[in-house]
Amino acid sequence: MTTAVSFRQVSRHFGAVKAVDAVDLDIAPGEFFAMLGPSGSGKTTCLRLIAGFEQPTSGSVSIFGERAEGVPPYRRNVNTVFQDYALFPHLSVLDNVAYGLMVKGVAKSERYRAAEQALALVRLPDYGVRRPSQLSGGQRQRVALARALVNQPRVLLLDEPLGALDLKLRENMQEELKSLQKSLGITFVFVTHDQGEALSMADRVAVFNDGRIMQVGTPQEIYERPATRFVADFVGSSNVLPPDFVQRYAGQRRWGSLRPEAIRIGSAGSGDGVSARLISTNYLGATTRLLLDAEGLRLHAMAPAGVHLPAEGQEVRLTFNRDQLHLMEDAG
Ligand code: ATP
Repeated sequence: MTTAVSFRQVSRHFGAVKAVDAVDLDIAPGEFFAMLGPSGSGKTTCLRLIAGFEQPTSGSVSIFGERAEGVPPYRRNVNTVFQDYALFPHLSVLDNVAYGLMVKGVAKSERYRAAEQALALVRLPDYGVRRPSQLSGGQRQRVALARALVNQPRVLLLDEPLGALDLKLRENMQEELKSLQKSLGITFVFVTHDQGEALSMADRVAVFNDGRIMQVGTPQEIYERPATRFVADFVGSSNVLPPDFVQRYAGQRRWGSLRPEAIRIGSAGSGDGVSARLISTNYLGATTRLLLDAEGLRLHAMAPAGVHLPAEGQEVRLTFNRDQLHLMEDAG
């Protein structure tokens, strides 16, 4: 099957900076693919390589089976929604959305019809006459989306498109973007440094660090079976366990990860497990988050509501199923 986007050993260096370093990647048609990683890890450069705003220093990029070298951005059947939206302030919303079609020489009546359709798709049907300055942040975001969708791209690139929105609006837009993507069937490639956003929206996630992909997988794989210490740390809340600790409980000298919800808390001195002291509890409603000191190691655990918890400062015994202790690639 053809892939929507594929990278073969793609590098993009800027002088001594390896912004993208020997990346291999295959994104399937119709996939919602997130590129996740800290600032400066190469996500945006990857997006720009797909868009055609950057050329690889070495390696090759293909879009729907065609080598992209030498193909200019406007011939790639790919559109980008930028973080700052990049709307033209002096044009009406309708003209902003129709702009790409005008450049392509589409007749006025046809491009306005298509622009109105695109505005309806992002649920802004009556806003065409306004200027961007007369819209809220969330509405401007939708206009930017409509302006990309009007070109009917096969691949839509989104660079932190929700970064400028407040939390509530961000959550609404996450749901809307996802359902829009499913109904249109367009391949979405989404750049974010927000792990929650990547895990909740994407079919698959690539975790970047230093211009390289550390792991590609479904949100569940990334969350439950992080390949490396970096992924476990970056994707959040997992307990990262050092090799000597893992060796004692799993017999292998490797770094391990253990989700907080996998840890059970029992009373001190009761048989197997790890002895620990409860440092603090943090009530979150449906769950309580516990901070523990296990032989000098700080661990987080998560207890469901209604479970009787020991008092802070008390000695406890921690147990977990061996198969929930996930061993990572990093050797000890
Ligand atoms: P952010 O989340 O902050 O946008 P990112 O993961 O998207 O970060 P990139 O923008 O791809 O990261 O940048 C990767 C590295 O390449 C950074 O060190 C950056 O400074 C460098 N870089 C990117 N573009 C250029 C350029 N045109 N010239 C020189 N260095 C660049």
